[in-house]
Amino acid sequence: MMTAQELFKLSKKDKNQLEQNYIDALQDREFHELVDSLNVSSDILKNYTSLLKDVIKEKKNCKNCPSLEKCPNKVKGYIEQIIVLEKGLNFAYVNCPLEKERLKNSAHQKWMMVYDMPKEIKRASLNDVYKTAKNRIPIIKYFKTFLDDYQNIDKPKGIYLHGSFGSGKTYLIAALFNELAKKEVRSAMVYFPEFLRELKASFGTDFKERFDYIKEVPLLLLDDIGAENVTSWSRDEILGPILQYRMEEGLSTFFTSNLTLEELEVNLASTKSGNDSLKARRIIERIRQLTVDYPLIGENFRR
Ligand code: ADP
Ligand code: MG
Repeated sequence: MMTAQELFKLSKKDKNQLEQNYIDALQDREFHELVDSLNVSSDILKNYTSLLKDVIKEKKNCKNCPSLEKCPNKVKGYIEQIIVLEKGLNFAYVNCPLEKERLKNSAHQKWMMVYDMPKEIKRASLNDVYKTAKNRIPIIKYFKTFLDDYQNIDKPKGIYLHGSFGSGKTYLIAALFNELAKKEVRSAMVYFPEFLRELKASFGTDFKERFDYIKEVPLLLLDDIGAENVTSWSRDEILGPILQYRMEEGLSTFFTSNLTLEELEVNLASTKSGNDSLKARRIIERIRQLTVDYPLIGENFRR
């Protein structure tokens, strides 16, 4: 953009050229319409012909938007806008709806911590879930109640979601957590077998931080419980206290598993050091307190 001083210094010939360019541009219908909509005198407008043309070009690009990735505008995801000032025009970049959506989605992800889970899980969305099979309907209904209730004082119960491999259990819960992240609810999704391994390896370093984080996070998913190598340590020192704390504090807790609660009880009872069905039962009782039980059995979505 030219300053007033620069404009003043222009020779008469240049001034005529500016005018001529402007008049030529007016032949274009879109240029004409844009200029009319601004309600600014031609004396001012003629100094901005090429910038105004750029705005039109970007508008056209947006009209034929190929995708955010392939955005042909000068600044990807942004469109130039005209700001009318008292003595001239200014031009600013404003983000387009697609870019706004992208920013919103990446911003809310900071509320979700994932632990040894596929990255794509952060993009799971309830909108995608709706379109799929009937066996999800009761779960989605529960999610809706959960979303409504979550803002209330009494924190709603999580779900114990069990069923066959690849039926979409993890995806479903991730979609719910994503929705709550948009409301700035902090959550963690941890692949339980790997979490245990790393927790054990963190003795003497940040063990307590890791343990406390999972214990206290407002929303927790323990993914694939029952797939871990059960030891009396993992059951009685880790899982038990985490669940006990979350029960007492009313923190919503979710589980996915290939096992039903009855099968999980059997699984938790047996460790290398023997069989302890009482301790296993106490864990199951806590899970029952924390959750409602839903099956999700279906085709394997994994490819
Ligand atoms: P599970 O936890 O039951 O073993 P996952 O949740 O990991 O199954 O789902 C298996 C695969 O299918 C994953 O790659 C996941 O991203 C995909 N998937 C599951 N449900 C959906 C859905 N509703 N829409 C899109 N992809 C899905
Ligand atoms: Mg899973």
